[in-house]
Amino acid sequence: MDKTVSKGAKPKKHAVADREHCAACGACEAVCPRGAIVVWKGSFSVVDDDLCVGCGRCSAECPASAISIEVRA
Ligand code: SF4
Ligand code: SF4
Repeated sequence: MDKTVSKGAKPKKHAVADREHCAACGACEAVCPRGAIVVWKGSFSVVDDDLCVGCGRCSAECPASAISIEVRA
């Protein structure tokens, strides 16, 4: 796990998963270069906000359009 990035240097964007629309296909998990999104207990995807760099690969692959890339609050 990369702990060298300080809190102030966090990427500006991150993935937000909508569990209501997730089909639990695992495509997002397969393409994430950071291991930041997993399908929790085969039910729906969950993003680890500390690992996500907002690259958008998961969102691009999701067949259910269940992931949006948003500016961090
Ligand atoms: S935006 Fe990129 S780093 Fe974040 S969960 Fe999706 S694929 Fe992984
Ligand atoms: S790619 Fe989309 S539908 Fe598939 S597990 Fe990820 S969020 Fe759910």
